[in-house]
Amino acid sequence: MSAIDQTLKIHGLRSTFFRNQVLEIFHKSDYALSLSDIEDYLKEFDRITLYRTLKSFEEKGLIHKISDNTGITKYAACESACSEDHHHHQHVHFHCEMCLKSYCIDVAAVPNVVIPEGYKIFSKEMLLKGICKDCSHKK
Ligand SMILES: [Zn+2]
Ligand SMILES: [Zn+2]
Ligand SMILES: [Zn+2]
Repeated sequence: MSAIDQTLKIHGLRSTFFRNQVLEIFHKSDYALSLSDIEDYLKEFDRITLYRTLKSFEEKGLIHKISDNTGITKYAACESACSEDHHHHQHVHFHCEMCLKSYCIDVAAVPNVVIPEGYKIFSKEMLLKGICKDCSHKK
C-alpha cells in the first residue's frame, strides 16, 4: 500500500485513482494551491468531482484552507495530526508579495494572544507577508 493510499485510509476515505492523483499534487507542492493550480496539474478531470474531492479532503483533515487576502482560496496539505472535524495546526502562513505564493511555515510555537473576557476563540490564523526564500535568491 502506498503512502497516499494509507493516508486516505487513515482519514476514512476510500482510495480512488482520482483522490490519489489530487492528494499527490498536494504532497509534492511546497506551497499552497489554488483551484486553478490543481486543475493545471490534472490532465483530465471533472470539475464537480474535483470540488467534491477537495471538500471531503478538507472535512476529513487532509487539507486546510488558507486565506492570504488575495481573494483566491488556497489549500495546503495537513500535518498527519489532523483528523475529521479536528484540524490542529501550530504553523503560520506566509504570503510572498513577489510570486504571490503562500506557504505553510512550521514554527516552534504560535504566540498566545490574550483577548478580553467574553470572547471565545475557535480557530487561530496568522498570516505573514514578505518575500519567500526562492524570490529573495532571485534578484
Ligand atoms: Zn489540518
Ligand atoms: Zn516568492
Ligand atoms: Zn497551512
